[in-house]
Amino acid sequence: MFIGHYAVGLAAKKAAPQVSLGTLFIAAQFLDLLWPIFLLLGLERVEIAPGNTAFTPLAFVYYPFTHSLVAALAWATLFAFLYLTTRRSSRGAILVWVAVVSHWVLDALTHRPDLPLYPGSETLFGFGLWNSVAGTLIVEAILYALGVVLYRKATRALDRIGSYGFWALIIVLALIYAANVFGPPPPNVRVLAVVALFQWLFVFWAYWVDRHRESVAG
Ligand SMILES: [Zn+2]
Repeated sequence: MFIGHYAVGLAAKKAAPQVSLGTLFIAAQFLDLLWPIFLLLGLERVEIAPGNTAFTPLAFVYYPFTHSLVAALAWATLFAFLYLTTRRSSRGAILVWVAVVSHWVLDALTHRPDLPLYPGSETLFGFGLWNSVAGTLIVEAILYALGVVLYRKATRALDRIGSYGFWALIIVLALIYAANVFGPPPPNVRVLAVVALFQWLFVFWAYWVDRHRESVAG
């Protein structure tokens, strides 16, 4: 799942307007923002194996520190704790906790069984929506559209950065998703990891756009 995670970040704005979209993007995509770092450090492993599922050429061979259920709960708790101590909002902290955990839940929906319960565990989760390209596209497109609608309802643009900057972000995310789905597989894991690191750009973009929008009451 890719834009489905961003959809969660967008939708969450309605539940906690004081939390920036940038923070919500970090939370919803936290496990995948960490993952390329763990790949580059050699602590986790992925293989490029076209046909692994219909949807992605990636075989997630070993990624327990970012994508086991226990690790996801731990990262969520750490993230929520940091949010609580710096921002002093328990509502915001609960929301970012839920957003981090939502990443694992959505991944479990789409991946084939490759998400471990905890590092070293033989118990693997994954309901395999990725076995259907159409099914995945439909689910992610609906989630994304919902996320965009909810974020737009919860906020109002203060200026052009808030409006055009927002739409540019939404369109670029959708285009990158399409390129991932319909483009060729990455040439090697290093390139994949470096490209994946660029996702941090969307986080900064979201902080920027969010500062140029205000929350709408109600
Ligand atoms: Zn993931």
